[in-house]
Amino acid sequence: MTAMPKRSINHSYQDPVDLIWLRAAADLGLTVQRSRDAYAAYDGQGHLTISVPDEFDPDDSLAQMIFHELCHWLVSGPGARDLPDWGLSNTSRRDLVYEYACHRLQAALAAPYGLREFMAVTTVWRSYWNALPENPLQDGEDPAIAIAQAGFRLARTSPFQEILSRSLAATAAIADAVRGVVPESSLWSTTRARHRLGSLLSTSDSQTCGTCAWAITSRSGLRCRQHKMPGNSAPAVQGTERACERWEPQFTADDCGSCGACCRQGFDFVQLSSRDPFVSLHPELVQLKDGRQIVPRPDGLCVALNGDGSADSPFRCRHYETRPKNCRDFEVAGDACLQARRRVGLTR
Ligand code: SF4
Ligand code: SF4
Repeated sequence: MTAMPKRSINHSYQDPVDLIWLRAAADLGLTVQRSRDAYAAYDGQGHLTISVPDEFDPDDSLAQMIFHELCHWLVSGPGARDLPDWGLSNTSRRDLVYEYACHRLQAALAAPYGLREFMAVTTVWRSYWNALPENPLQDGEDPAIAIAQAGFRLARTSPFQEILSRSLAATAAIADAVRGVVPESSLWSTTRARHRLGSLLSTSDSQTCGTCAWAITSRSGLRCRQHKMPGNSAPAVQGTERACERWEPQFTADDCGSCGACCRQGFDFVQLSSRDPFVSLHPELVQLKDGRQIVPRPDGLCVALNGDGSADSPFRCRHYETRPKNCRDFEVAGDACLQARRRVGLTR
């Protein structure tokens, strides 16, 4: 009997998501070494030190730690690459606002890929992270917001844009591959799948396309207004299929009082035809602009608009019964309604 040739060991297994983020760091000119000497540290000369796995929280990963450090760099500005720990003090609360800005940026960058929970910060920082709103970059009183917004703008520049989007997309692709086989206790189970039209799935399984404001009933069945691409017809959806994250409850003209998007910053003005009765009924509200007759919107508000959108003072056209034809033709929950609501930030 001939002896079996011994199979030599030439390779070692590595976590694929760690590899993705090690490559991201390398492409940004950073090396990563593992050491018990620090949980995470940066020497200001291109070398990150990140702790070893047995020091991590169970829901931590090298990938998240690298991503977190890159977010620190982004919120501290391009020059922070040459500063130890991105120029932040680790021994006082002086730079706490930068830590919080880093969290906001991290959440904002990971969320579109369904990775906000998967790439969440850990250790002692969980309470701030857990309290973040759905849009962590939305204007507000927290001074960390403006810093995070600046970091987000930097993340949209080269080479950050390409490297971060590539790494997040690759991480999300692995999440898609394993989501169906992981136990509930796995961090992978927190990743979010996509609706077949591209948006992330809604977190509520009781929301369906059939109950969504943006589902249009056409002769050929139900179609989605939100995912309509320019020049194409709206794509088909099934009434019973699980909604995407763009789901909104159906609304009617009764709901316009709290919205008013089409009467304020959703559009710049209302154009009038010369035959529109509004011209002769309300000449004091009509202006000439580039040879066209319009109803203007100084400070973004139609000159015929009353109210502030509150329950006590809903938005309402002062001349609703005699409103211009363009306003009469406006379809609640139609394409232009969606456009207006997006422009004022009421709808994604
Ligand atoms: S926007 Fe509404 S109709 Fe369109 S896919 Fe999402 S839930 Fe379905
Ligand atoms: S944008 Fe749509 S929901 Fe808002 S007020 Fe206009 S018609 Fe109503």
